[in-house]
Amino acid sequence: MRFLKLIGHILFIALLTILTQVGGLLWLMSVFIAVKLQKRKRYIFPIIYLICNIIIVPIVAPYFGRRKLPVIKSVLKPQNHIYPLLFRNYVDNELYDVLEQSTIDLAHLGIKTTYLDANFPFFNGFPLFPHLSHNDGKKIDIAFMYLDNNNKTDQKPSFMGYGAFINLNNPTSKNCINKGYWQYDLTKYLSPDKSKAFQLDKENTKTLIQGLLYRNKNSKIFIEPYLKKELGLVEYDNVRFHGCQAVRHDDHIHLQIK
Ligand SMILES: [Zn+2]
Repeated sequence: MRFLKLIGHILFIALLTILTQVGGLLWLMSVFIAVKLQKRKRYIFPIIYLICNIIIVPIVAPYFGRRKLPVIKSVLKPQNHIYPLLFRNYVDNELYDVLEQSTIDLAHLGIKTTYLDANFPFFNGFPLFPHLSHNDGKKIDIAFMYLDNNNKTDQKPSFMGYGAFINLNNPTSKNCINKGYWQYDLTKYLSPDKSKAFQLDKENTKTLIQGLLYRNKNSKIFIEPYLKKELGLVEYDNVRFHGCQAVRHDDHIHLQIK
């Protein structure tokens, strides 16, 4: 029985570490404190987790070269509070500055920027699962802009912001899946809410991409090749196809700086 319990703890720590980077360590601390207090206090972990999430990690992360992105009342905000709650909204100082400047530019044009997965707070080389490249503070995913019955909306068609593909059967995606890259449209499972039939706001998504690229000449954006054409961004060398080894990008924009 004790052995099974130990295995359970190890699996839970691994899961928390994969999803949040620091959660596994916080679970371990909570178990240690509960043992010291000689009580099984279920509320120790949520309290420690929230204090670290809201206060301690945002203070410590800058010593590791990362900053927490805004969560509320900002022209740059997360698609939902799961991203900050899972410590997935940290970027390095340079990307922070680029985002701060470009999202203020975009706000003047009436565009609020919504971010999805960014990076964890600590250590280069620690990937933010399932995005293996989001491991150095220099990458962030941004949601497209949408229309709701031809009216501009800040809402997105899926709860997490991923998985609501613009053209389900675009040639690149088919090609990648046929070549055996089974992970290519894995994000479709992150869009359980298909009932919201928003349309891509091409004009404002193009403006969003231009705004994100404007403040840093070393920025790159990854989207599907057919969208690059449809959005009228063909002349932009820094708007690129990411390759079949990634996941498809006709549900979000991937921005990275060098
Ligand atoms: Zn990305």
